[in-house]
Parts: sequence; C-alpha cells; structure tokens
Amino acid sequence: MNVHESEKIAGVLEELGYTSCDDFSKADIVVFNTCCIRENAENHAYGNIGMLKKLKAKNRDMIIAVGGCLPQQIGKADSLHKKFPYVDIIFGTHNLNKLKDYIVKKQHQKKAVIEIMPSEGEICEDEKPYRTSYPNAWINITYGCNNFCSYCIVPYVRGRERSRNSENILNEARSLIKEGYKEITLLGQNVNSYNIGNEDMSFSQLLKAVASIEGKFRLRFMTSHPKDFSEEIAQAIASNSKICHSVHLPVQSGSDRILKAMNRKYTSSDYLKKIEILKKYVPNCAVTTDLIVGFPGETEEDFEETKALVKEVGFSSAFTFVYSKREGTVAANMPNQIPEEVSKRRIMELVELVNGLTRTQSQQYVGKKIEILCEDFDEKKKTYLGRDEYGRMAYFESDKNEKGNFVNVNIESANGISLVGVKAGD
Ligand code: SAH
Ligand code: SF4
Repeated sequence: MNVHESEKIAGVLEELGYTSCDDFSKADIVVFNTCCIRENAENHAYGNIGMLKKLKAKNRDMIIAVGGCLPQQIGKADSLHKKFPYVDIIFGTHNLNKLKDYIVKKQHQKKAVIEIMPSEGEICEDEKPYRTSYPNAWINITYGCNNFCSYCIVPYVRGRERSRNSENILNEARSLIKEGYKEITLLGQNVNSYNIGNEDMSFSQLLKAVASIEGKFRLRFMTSHPKDFSEEIAQAIASNSKICHSVHLPVQSGSDRILKAMNRKYTSSDYLKKIEILKKYVPNCAVTTDLIVGFPGETEEDFEETKALVKEVGFSSAFTFVYSKREGTVAANMPNQIPEEVSKRRIMELVELVNGLTRTQSQQYVGKKIEILCEDFDEKKKTYLGRDEYGRMAYFESDKNEKGNFVNVNIESANGISLVGVKAGD
C-alpha cells in the first residue's frame, strides 16, 4: 500500500517538473513517505531524515518533505518539526492531495509548511500516480480501516474505511490494461469489506467485473480479513482464470485467547473453516499469511497453538512480526508485555517453521513447467525473474527483454524459497 502511495507522491513531483534521481546529494526535493505500523519502521524513518541534516546545511535550496502515517499520529508533526527543524514540509495521510500546493507554497516562503488533517476527507479521484512497478499496477479500492485490531495503529492514522466507486476502479483498470500492464492488484486494508453497507457492487462482484476486462492479465488483491472472507469471494476466484489462485489471509495467531485479545473477531477454527471454503472452490489455492509473536500475555501454549495452525494450513509463505507496542492502541496498555528475548526466540522458531514449509513446497515444483510473469532483470544474477500465479518467484535466462512477458519456464531446481528454471519452447 505504501509503495502505491509513494507512486502517487512521485506523480505529484512529476507534475511539478521534477525527475527522479538516485542520489540524495543531487536532489532538489526529497519526500519521505513514512510508516508507523511498527516501532522499527518509525525509527528507520527518523534515521533517514536525520541523515539529510548535513546535506541540507550544504544545499539550503533542497526541499525536504515528510508525509505518511508517522506525522499523522497525534502530536508527532510537532515533535518531528522540533527534532528536525530543517524539514520544510510535514503532511499526513489525509492530505497527500495537497502536496502540490505545499511544495509551491514552500518555494515562495522561508517558513516550514506543516499541515495535518484530523480526519479523512472525500476520496481523491484525480490522482496521477507515477507507476514504478510495471508489469504490476496497484489500484486502491478502499482506504482506512474500521477493525481496530487491538495492536494496530492503522485505524488511527488512516481513518474510517471508505470504498471507491466501482465505476472509477473499473475505468482505472481498463486504461491500465490498455496501457500494457499485465497484473492488477486491488488494494485495501480489508478488501473483503469493500462497499459493505453501500448500494454499489460487493467485492466478489468487483473481482468478477475487473477480471472480465478484455486482455491477458493477472488479477490479485490484498489484504483480506478472515472475518469477511466469504463463500462468494471463493466462488469469484474460481470463476475466472485471470484471478490468481493465491490469497493473503492474515491469521496473526493460532490461539483463540490471543485472537480475542487482538480483537480479530474469529477463532482458529473459524479461520480453518474459511480455508476449507476457499479450498472447496479453489483446491490448489496458495495461502499466505501474517503472524505476530509476543503479543501481550502470549504464553508458550499460545505460541504452540500458532505453530500448530501454521502446520495445519501449510501456508506457502508468511510475513512474521514481533509485536510492537504502538501508543494509543488498546494493546499498548495491556499487562504482561512479553520480554524481547522471548519474542526473539519465538520469531526465530516461527521463521524456521515457515521457511521449512516454503522450501518443501518449492521442491514440489522441480520438473514442472510453470507460467511466469516476468517482472524484472536481476543485474547481480544476470537472469530474469518473475512469479507464477501462486506468487512463487522463479529465475530464468533469456537473450531478449522479457520484462512484462508471460514466459513458460521448466523448473530445474529449487533454491530455498525461489525456483530456477529454463525457458521452455513456445
Ligand atoms: N489490514 C491488513 C494489514 C495491516 S498491516 C490486515 O489486517 O491484514 C500488516 C501486518 O502488520 C498485519 O497483518 C500485522 O501482522 C502486522 N502488524 C500490525 N500492527 C502490528 C504491531 N503493532 N506489531 C507487530 N505487527 C503488527
Ligand atoms: Fe490493522 Fe486490523 Fe485494520 Fe488490518 S484489519 S489494518 S491489522 S486494524
């Protein structure tokens, strides 16, 4: 989601006549798109902003802007301004559409431009993202989140859930496919609740409508909240081969006690039932997930339940996180915060378990022919890389430019989580 937001920021800069460069010291403007989902993301942003102090002293004309969810947190814009007085523009998640005005204003005044909107406004439909992820194109379908998982800062910094009008989404998808994009990823904090309570089409209807656009392309979506993952969505995935058989369904924990404390609104058996429904319609569907260890009060038994669930589902891969205390969330005030060394041990165990599953699944690819959508050329390995519809990464050699092509590849070996193969004859 943040990557696409950065594309929107880059779109604003392009409109103002800036071009991209990969050396800070040559930049006329630097915009940081920050994230505060975990403490280390926040610290990373502080480190990067701090690094520009010397450059700014040398080049006073360079404009530094900081946006995104870090400054959107209550009181953080002021503390950022105090900590980094050389930052020229500070804006939040609800006013990215005003960035252009802020930059123009700053070009004409000495004083810093600081503006944070307390709440979300209308959805902005005239954004022109500068897309950097060809052959994939991201499309937001919802903004914000209503779920208030007890550990999560997102609802506080991204506001209430709003769904974009389906016609606007379909028009965007149509023109991206016409432009030559080969993969569309529909984005939202919880895409499954798209338009819940509105007259407009549901998520499963939207999926089918996007998939029915003419042309060869893949359709993906993220993220799905298990509580809203329905039979209709599973049926929609099965209804059109353009919709990838790959679903990211974050479970977070396998312990019902912890799931309740997380306010996830499902139990581990509810989750398993959702997987059963998905597999009923899409038997070969790859399922990936997010997992948190070290949530306040998590016992060894709770952690064992998480591992058991991971094994039972047999995830293709998982993002694993150590719980990070976020001020203002309900969990931040819960007793029994878990010591760092315990969380560290648990995450290492979990990573090992997940990697083992991923490796075993990779091995099963050896000897098979798969269709890869080529994403890029790896300069170091001197090979192309891409993914199959299940999201598995594969490398192959070719003497022509394959970026954006669908290529059949015979898999010869599995190298950890990724695959290595040779281009098959057409
Ligand atoms: N809306 C999506 C994704 C939200 S953020 C969803 O609900 O799935 C992506 C992931 O970050 C979450 O799934 C969760 O695993 C993790 N996360 C969020 N807040 C966290 C925190 N305070 N500490 C550790 N991980 C967190
Ligand atoms: Fe955060 Fe939960 Fe919303 Fe995902 S669903 S963004 S984890 S509050």
